[in-house]
Amino acid sequence: MAASTRSMQYALQKAMAPSLVVILGATGTGKSKLAIEIGKRVQGEIISADSMQVYQGLDIITNKVTAEECAQCRHHMISFVDPLVSSYTVVDFRNKALALIEDMHSRDKLPIIVGGTNYYIESLLWKVLVDTGQEDKESGKEKEEGGATDRKEELEKLGGAELHKRLAEVDPEMAAMLHPNDTRKIARSLQVHEETGVPHSHWLEKQRGQEGGDGLGGPLRYPDPCIFWLHADMDALDKRLDARVDEMLSLGLIEELRDFHLRYNQQKVQDQSQDYQHGIFQSIGFKEFHDYLTAPEHTTQQERDTLRDKGIEALKIATRRYARKQNKWVRNRFLKRPGDCVPAVYGLDVTDVSRWEETVLNPALQILDSLRKGEQPAVEPIRVEGVEQRNKRSHHTCDVCDKVIIGDLEWTAHLKSKKHHYHVRKKRKLDDAAVPPASSVETAPCLSQDTSSVVAPGCGESEESSRDSRPTDKEVPVTL
Ligand SMILES: [Zn+2]
Repeated sequence: MAASTRSMQYALQKAMAPSLVVILGATGTGKSKLAIEIGKRVQGEIISADSMQVYQGLDIITNKVTAEECAQCRHHMISFVDPLVSSYTVVDFRNKALALIEDMHSRDKLPIIVGGTNYYIESLLWKVLVDTGQEDKESGKEKEEGGATDRKEELEKLGGAELHKRLAEVDPEMAAMLHPNDTRKIARSLQVHEETGVPHSHWLEKQRGQEGGDGLGGPLRYPDPCIFWLHADMDALDKRLDARVDEMLSLGLIEELRDFHLRYNQQKVQDQSQDYQHGIFQSIGFKEFHDYLTAPEHTTQQERDTLRDKGIEALKIATRRYARKQNKWVRNRFLKRPGDCVPAVYGLDVTDVSRWEETVLNPALQILDSLRKGEQPAVEPIRVEGVEQRNKRSHHTCDVCDKVIIGDLEWTAHLKSKKHHYHVRKKRKLDDAAVPPASSVETAPCLSQDTSSVVAPGCGESEESSRDSRPTDKEVPVTL
């Protein structure tokens, strides 16, 4: 008994260093291939962290692994949600995936996460999701149906000024960090308070206060994950992405889309209730073919071909755009992110496919081997140099211009702006006219209220949602 417990512990320890492997990289960088090769060698099992692959159907366009690939290494989280379900969330994913990881650890298997979808991966790496329900949905790009969102939309209709006033009453800390024009975020904070009875800022503080929290999110869920980032020269990747679309076409992409449309979307289109914002219907490559798939009966073959070609072109553009977005996320969330809770990321250059074993597979295996032995890998993790710590939610008031500016970067930009200098000169002239020159002192034109002691509420938000703060973050005159 004691012996078996000991061996179990030993096995666990062995499996826990690293606790899991994560393979990041834009679409088309060969994440699945690397995952399978690693999995075969280290007793690993693969978890797909892709919000479209969870659904049944559209196997080609969502780039699912083939049956052949599946046979080489066990895969999870693929093709188990009915395509007509539109309410599958990142929380559902997280709960199921965490249970899987636990199970793998108990069986001495190394979980290999392959992604995929940014907020799906984040939900596994960091304890970032405040469980109010809404927060979780917010961090996903899917807007879920149901009361929670309706309430938020209802709130948003009240307008920024009114919302900001209400938030200042129940959660002044949060209100100070949000621009009054940032209706979406203010409404969310209000809603968190309404639903939980606890101010949103307290939730975030609690999250940060957890051991290892660093102010930008919760602590890491698993210590020292081994993270690989597959990156490539963008020109090379673009070519590869185009080629991949062509390959999808030869694999029967058009037939797959047509079949899926007939089974799941045609009726909706006829009822004018088609919705490309939810569930699998958001998948890149489906909506792009809407015109082609819904062309009326009398459409000539030539017209059909034109529509199809347009769809293919749109698919290529959307794919390239998505690849850039994925890379940007890695830079923002891993490489530029300050704090202690950022795991090391090992870069692997996948530009030259002909040298894949030499430049990708072997280095990855060596790094993993070192980590498993508790040694320092020969390759250094990537770090973007010169990233200063900045507070995206700091609150600044420019008295000269009578403006509220949120965020350190925006504040610096404001101080350098023509408008600000114009107001400073104007003020100086006025002061000079009013006061004898001798007493004119160097004016300190702008006061900055440092709120860095307050938690930055970026936690738990994906790139998608935090980008949504639109240009109002810049310079908008406000009277508070
Ligand atoms: Zn100013």
